[in-house]
Amino acid sequence: MLEVSNLSVSYGRHLALSDVALSVGQGEIVVVLGANGAGKSTFIKALAGLVTPAPGARILLGGQSLERLPAHQIVEAGLALVPEGRHLFSTLTVAENLSLGAFLPRTRAQASDSLERVFAVFPKLRQRLSQIAGTMSGGEQQMVAIGRAMMTDPQLLLLDEPSLGLSPLLTTELFRALPNIAATGTSVLMVEQNSHQSLSISDRGYLLEDGRITGEGAASDLLQSEAVQKAYLGM
Ligand code: ATP
Repeated sequence: MLEVSNLSVSYGRHLALSDVALSVGQGEIVVVLGANGAGKSTFIKALAGLVTPAPGARILLGGQSLERLPAHQIVEAGLALVPEGRHLFSTLTVAENLSLGAFLPRTRAQASDSLERVFAVFPKLRQRLSQIAGTMSGGEQQMVAIGRAMMTDPQLLLLDEPSLGLSPLLTTELFRALPNIAATGTSVLMVEQNSHQSLSISDRGYLLEDGRITGEGAASDLLQSEAVQKAYLGM
């Protein structure tokens, strides 16, 4: 589904990502764990076409090369970004925010089917369609942001620190929905600092330190691993 190799990004002389390689299978949930400044945002931006990778990078989604495409063509190719901080249209309703997600010609025609898929994952949103998005709680806003990305009918959902600013309880509620998205065949790739909760619902994980992948494995193994517990789980 997604195959990334040889991905490096520099800001001037600063190498923010070095030779990152990673894969995500269809319907898989994968988390990239990293501390502040590890390069998580840069990684997300490189996949979404918002920063230019160094020559030699390969980003393949369903067999299509993304590394030279502009951001809007990357969305068309099936990669939907849920940005950090959600970036909803806060004065518009939930319904309006969701329908703005179906902006591609391909997805506009099937917007009502996509909306049903969003409600299947986040039943709460059906009752909130006329609520102004800015008046929702942080957890609810994150649901709308993910729902809006689902309206592009993506092959892969890319989540930038979805738990940021949410309580552990709201994070649990949000993360519980992710396996339901994956079960429909949409893959989920997220970057997180919240290691314990994200590993608990992921299939696999990668460790990102100083722009390099320093470890990877099944999420259940990473949860048990002493190195991960020391570095990320505060034990
Ligand atoms: P955080 O969780 O704090 O956002 P992060 O893991 O997302 O951190 P990045 O934002 O990707 O990390 O940053 C990785 C490194 O690249 C950091 O050292 C950062 O200072 C540097 N960096 C990020 N953006 C730029 C930029 N536009 N110009 C120069 N350096 C940058």
